[in-house]
Amino acid sequence: MDFSLDSETEALVTRYREFVDDRLVPLEPQLLEQGIEPLLGTIADLRGEVQGLGLWGPNLPREYGGRGLDLLTHGLVSEALGRCPLGHYVFGCNAPDAGNVELLHLYANEDQKRAWLGPLARGEIRSCFGMTESDNSGANPLMLSTTAELRGDEWVINGRKWFTTGADGAALCILMAVTDPEAPPHRRASMILVPTDTPGYRLRRNTPIMGHVGKDLFSHGEIEFEDCRVPADNLLGPREEGFKLAQARLGPGRIHHCMRWLGICQRSLELMVRRADSREISPEGRKLSDSDLIRGWIAECAAEIKAARLMVLHAAWRIEHAGARAARDDVSMIKFYVAGVLQRVVDRALQVHGGLGVTDYTVLAWYYREERAARIYDGPDEVHKLSVARRLLKTLAG
Ligand SMILES: Cc1cc2nc3c(=O)[nH]c(=O)nc-3n(C[C@H](O)[C@H](O)[C@H](O)COP(=O)(O)OP(=O)(O)OC[C@H]3O[C@@H](n4cnc5c(N)ncnc54)[C@H](O)[C@@H]3O)c2cc1C
Repeated sequence: MDFSLDSETEALVTRYREFVDDRLVPLEPQLLEQGIEPLLGTIADLRGEVQGLGLWGPNLPREYGGRGLDLLTHGLVSEALGRCPLGHYVFGCNAPDAGNVELLHLYANEDQKRAWLGPLARGEIRSCFGMTESDNSGANPLMLSTTAELRGDEWVINGRKWFTTGADGAALCILMAVTDPEAPPHRRASMILVPTDTPGYRLRRNTPIMGHVGKDLFSHGEIEFEDCRVPADNLLGPREEGFKLAQARLGPGRIHHCMRWLGICQRSLELMVRRADSREISPEGRKLSDSDLIRGWIAECAAEIKAARLMVLHAAWRIEHAGARAARDDVSMIKFYVAGVLQRVVDRALQVHGGLGVTDYTVLAWYYREERAARIYDGPDEVHKLSVARRLLKTLAG
């Protein structure tokens, strides 16, 4: 087993990392103080620059202007981008657009690709993905109330979604709705493309998260469909196969999140170490880093991040070599394990910063607020643990 990186990959990862550290991290104070809106112009320019440098869309297929990196290399790049909250967006691989691009690439027909995939892949528009509903358990996607009824040559859509990330400003919503209520549970839903300027589609509000209302790409929208009509041709993929499409989208989406979280963990560890080594806690000049307790945290964080990184890269390798289905448990394991590491590392880094940690003068409070949800979205911890345990009980219990 060879863990070394070839020089080309190492140089590529360094390019991404340096761009993030040199160009994006300096924008953080403004992001944390004023939110994303005043930065949108600067970010648009940076996206153009990244495209010019040939660094756009590390995981996007080459035919759509991306670099088409394999999943392992993308994992390394994604960790570099995760070091700053702006990283993935500036490089054109942010959620939910990245997952939506993959879905359109796999299932859209030629007209749909022309209308949506091209503009989305080039970063000209944003999109959102509407599956979860406030009145139904999102952990079980078989429970949906939003309906799309085929009347003549139109789908007539009624219902509500929430936690539709990035709905604020999105041009397209990929909607999961019940199209065949009489079919067996796994075949009731289909996916439909809904342009957000369609009459009857409405963004009701952006949901406040822990005292903060995100905007634009950092928003989580509550959206409403009231007799919203789109052409029958807006069906994405086969009718009744919404769940299959959702799995195809969520599988890779989960590993992408884990890869991004590694960047957050590594950055938080670096902030923690620097603070511990500079903060004096006694008149004699004793520093936080002189405390055995703090040293223990530093070592534990480093070990947990390393374990998480190896697990993520191994899961990526399994997906590439054995396929997404065979790697289901690997993906479930990283989903809950890395989310746990993320939470512990950010929490310890914040604790080491004391009062400063809960202010918006470092990025840690942003991580703490925005990333607590890692243990909930794309399947809560418990659901992934149950699914791993179920298969282990089948194979190991004898
Ligand atoms: C920040 C954020 C962004 C999101 N973005 C999107 C998006 O873009 N599009 C979208 O459609 N959805 C999105 N979601 C929704 C997300 O996928 C759901 O929140 C998630 O699936 C959980 O569903 P729920 O919130 O309804 O919780 P519930 O299903 O009500 O579950 C609540 C809790 O119960 C426990 N639980 C659930 N099922 C079981 C079980 N079988 N056994 C044991 N315990 C269980 C878990 O601890 C879980 O956290 C987002 C959510 C968040 C927080």
